[in-house]
Amino acid sequence: MKVIKTIKAWQQLRKNIEPNHTVGFVATMGCLHPGHASLIERSKKENNITVLSIFVNPTQFNEQTDLDNYPVTTAADLALAQKLGVDYVFMPEPSAMYPGEHTIVIQAKDEMAMMLEGVKRPGHFDGVLSVVLKLLILISPDKAYFGEKDYQQYILIKKMAEQYFLPCEIIPCAIIREASGLAMSSRNTLLSKKERACADKIATIFANSLDDESTTQHAIESVGGQVEYLAVVNNRRFLAVRVGSIRLIDNRPCS
Ligand code: AMP
Repeated sequence: MKVIKTIKAWQQLRKNIEPNHTVGFVATMGCLHPGHASLIERSKKENNITVLSIFVNPTQFNEQTDLDNYPVTTAADLALAQKLGVDYVFMPEPSAMYPGEHTIVIQAKDEMAMMLEGVKRPGHFDGVLSVVLKLLILISPDKAYFGEKDYQQYILIKKMAEQYFLPCEIIPCAIIREASGLAMSSRNTLLSKKERACADKIATIFANSLDDESTTQHAIESVGGQVEYLAVVNNRRFLAVRVGSIRLIDNRPCS
């Protein structure tokens, strides 16, 4: 496994990958967990070469404290990547991904960007799409894997790839969950023991709730969660909830 930190070094390596070798790509912000591992395993199965990126993208954070507190576990991430058989880990510095100005921004005007996360986190999807476009151009994969955990993000990236003729297939991967039903997330590591117990209860409520939003909201709030939204869109239920200072999101298809 090779760890690459500069754009130049990666571009040099990319040129030397055999043209008949397919490249699979998994973009992450690190603090890897079994959700990320499932994307990497799928890429390993479907491609000759798997590239993992670890980059905490500053432009997609709309709260400075969220960025400052984002968990970093580089040594463990690299050990897991190695164990999973990742070929290349691309770990650029922010100054490498954003040299000089960041004035040409991909702006998501799609209706999927105008609701839920798009409303609660202004500018978030513009930051996500801008960095994913940079990464897809640099890595130049045949297939890129994204989790349904961030469902709006997946839809928007898929649309960007279609609308900008990116020669890359965008593949959705199912949400990996804890036994309680809690969607795995790097931010779960920031929960205190008490908050984690609360998050587990919320996940169970969300999994078992039917489409009655006010009853579900009441149940979530009675175990200590603060609901930001609970909504059904395109036959899928979406939840954003604060547990203490940690913001968690989830979604499930309507039954
Ligand atoms: P992140 O590091 O949070 O930016 O996530 C990197 C990728 O992993 C994104 O495509 C996420 O949707 C995906 N991902 C994160 N958590 C999970 C999960 N629990 N199950 C499946 N995919 C996930």
